[in-house]
Order: sequence, then C-alpha cells, then structure tokens
Amino acid sequence: MRFVVLGGSFGGLISAYELRKVLPRAHEVLLISNARTFVYRPALPFVALGTRDPGAITAELEPSLKKRGIGFLQATVTRIDPVTRRVFTSMGHVDYDYVVVALGAHLEREAVAGLDAYTECILWLDDALRVREKLRGFSGGHIAVLEVQETPLRCPAYEIAFGLDAYLRRRALREKSCIHFITYAESPFDVGGPKASKIVAQEFERRGIDVHTGAAVSRIADGIVYTRDGEAFEANLILAFPPYRGTDAVLRSKGVGDSRGFIPVHTTMESQRFPRLYAVGDAVAFPGPKSGRMAEVQAKVAAHNIACQVAARGKYKNYRSHVVCAMDMGDGKGMFAYRKEAPGQGPLRFSFAMPGRWPAIAKSALERYFMTAHF
Ligand SMILES: Cc1cc2nc3c(=O)[nH]c(=O)nc-3n(C[C@H](O)[C@H](O)[C@H](O)COP(=O)(O)OP(=O)(O)OC[C@H]3O[C@@H](n4cnc5c(N)ncnc54)[C@H](O)[C@@H]3O)c2cc1C
Repeated sequence: MRFVVLGGSFGGLISAYELRKVLPRAHEVLLISNARTFVYRPALPFVALGTRDPGAITAELEPSLKKRGIGFLQATVTRIDPVTRRVFTSMGHVDYDYVVVALGAHLEREAVAGLDAYTECILWLDDALRVREKLRGFSGGHIAVLEVQETPLRCPAYEIAFGLDAYLRRRALREKSCIHFITYAESPFDVGGPKASKIVAQEFERRGIDVHTGAAVSRIADGIVYTRDGEAFEANLILAFPPYRGTDAVLRSKGVGDSRGFIPVHTTMESQRFPRLYAVGDAVAFPGPKSGRMAEVQAKVAAHNIACQVAARGKYKNYRSHVVCAMDMGDGKGMFAYRKEAPGQGPLRFSFAMPGRWPAIAKSALERYFMTAHF
C-alpha cells in the first residue's frame, strides 16, 4: 500500500515519521512538498528581531526522510481526487491508498483592504528576513502590530510586540518610538485564558506598549491603520497577523474542503466526507487558533488511526482540543499558558498561566530539541 503525506512542515513531517513507525516496512510512505526545506516557523519572530539565524531553524527534508525510509517528492500539489485516490502534482500524478493532507493555509489577502500592499506579515522565512532589514533601517517612529480579526495565529503578535520593545531599547530607540498593539480581541491574549490575559496586559503596561482591544481593522492605507470604530493609527511600519483561508490545492479538490478551503474532519482526523483521507494542522476546518503544537498532536492521532484502519484492529484515538503556549516576552522573560478547550472548540474548562524566565528558556530549548531530534 502507498501512504502519501502532503506538506513538509509540522503536520506533514510528524505524520510521515509516525506512519513510518507504526506501519509495516512493506508499505510505502511518501512525502510530497513544494519546499525542499523545513522551517521552524515559531522562531520566525526572532529571525525578524535578529536574535536567530535562518540556518538554525531550517533543515533539508530529503536526507532525514530518506534516513527513515520515507520517500520524498518535491512537487506542487495541484488537486486531490478522493474518489479515484489520486493526487495531481506539478511532477505528474501519484495514486494513494491513504493520504494525509498537511498543506497548511494561505493568507487571506482580501480580508482587509490594504493588508497585502501596506503591511508586513511574518509567515515564512523571506517575510522575517524582509522585516529584519526594515528594522535595521528603522530610526524611531511608530510601529503598529495588528492581530487582525479571525486570525488563527494568536501568540506571535505578542512575541513580536514584546520583542520589539526589547530590540528598540537595545538600540537606544525606544524613547523615540511608539508601539501600538491593535487587536480585535476584547482582552489581550484571551486565547490563553483570563490569567494569561492579565499577565500580558500588565506586561504591556509596564513596557509602555499602547494596547487597543476590541479594535477590528477596517482598512489599511500607506502608513495608516483604520479601525471599524473610526480610529486611525499612523505607523512607519505595520506588522500584521492576518486571517487565513485554505490552500488553492484544497479549493480545487472537489468536496474535500469547505467553502473557505479548510478540510472538515472528525476528531479521529479522518475526513468527514471521504474515507482514507486524513487532514492535520492548519489545513483542518476546526475553528479557533491554529498552532504547530496542534499540528503535531493531530499528526500523531492521524497516523495511529490509519494504522488501526489498515490492520482492522486497535482502539482509535481522538484529538482533544487545547491551547499550550510558551510565549517569549523578550529580555529573557516569558509566560507559559494552558487552556482547555481551545476557543471556538468548546467551553473554557480550565486555564493556567505562569510568567517567569523558564518559559522563555523552555521555548528555545524546545526549538533546539525539535531541530535536533527530527533532522
Ligand atoms: C510567525 C509565526 C509564529 C508561530 N509561532 C508558533 C508557536 O510559537 N507555537 C506553535 O505551536 N505554533 C506557532 N506558529 C504556528 C505554526 O507554525 C503552524 O500552525 C504550523 O506550521 C502548521 O503546520 P502545518 O504542517 O499544518 O502547515 P504549514 O506550516 O503551513 O506547512 C504547510 C506545508 O505544505 C507545503 N505546501 C503548501 N502548499 C503546497 C502545495 N500546493 N504543494 C506541495 N506542498 C505544499 C508547504 O511548503 C509546507 O511544507 C507560528 C506561525 C507563525 C507564522
């Protein structure tokens, strides 16, 4: 049998590794990705702030996959046909017995007028390097950090805001600069629960970062952010964390995704519509935040359940929603937050948050561990 994994980031990589572990060697596991390299995206804010080198957070996919007995095809997936079980790519088609879709999501550029033209969105390495250059040329003024309504990226905007405060102080520019944090949320970092929100709000105040909550962005012009309640913020640099939509490949695959291109799945991670099609990570139609941690957990659930289905025995696992966040707050400080359930996926049952130095240490240790253990 052939098990095809689409995407080479958190969801795809972990799905392929786990499938290889749980399936008999006679089965083929093949990973298809348009990129040759893996990028540890949680470290992108630090690349932008100049505290992390790209080489430390990227790795070639093929050697690590090959070492584990997983095939690799560098190609762009154009469409999936879940009826004939065929994936169409820029390098021809590939038939599958089971497929795991981990193609991530795209920035929804049309969500707010001017988002594309006048903001920097740190989603991939090129974006982070562009922001790094812009910050090098920055000599004081206003910076706006936007958590745009519907964005599923809920931690990096805070890390960039706190990191900017530390960065500007290091360069003796803080007195000459103003950081505006503009969020649609009613309280900052509500995604981590009430205690996390309070810690973040206190830290914003202590550092003199201007927070504007409940502020949905209506449009962005050159150097100005307009909110729906009529406010306007001038900024020399606008960093935006935008809403997502599904990928073009999923949108082109009849019946696979919903109207926005996200894939509806059961908590087993199998498609609600097509058997033997699983999806994990940012590509999935679960509401609320999306994260690498969620993608990893979902990938393990998917691989386990595929193995059960193939062997026709074993107990299926279900993905249980939660938020775990180790937030870097700059200057060696951080916060750990845990929340069950994730917002949008169930009622708040429990939340916990703790500030200190160890969450920042744990965050960079986790990054080093991930890169060493997987490549
Ligand atoms: C700045 C930033 C900071 C973040 N910080 C954190 C954090 O601190 N903690 C955390 O847990 N999460 C964080 N995240 C979120 C996390 O990075 C994502 O949730 C995670 O990467 C999703 O993994 P994924 O595999 O589902 O999709 P993606 O990471 O989007 O990967 C998609 C993969 O599919 C490939 N692909 C896409 N389209 C095609 C195609 N048509 N054909 C072939 N291949 C294709 C891509 O090259 C890529 O390999 C952050 C994200 C960003 C942008």
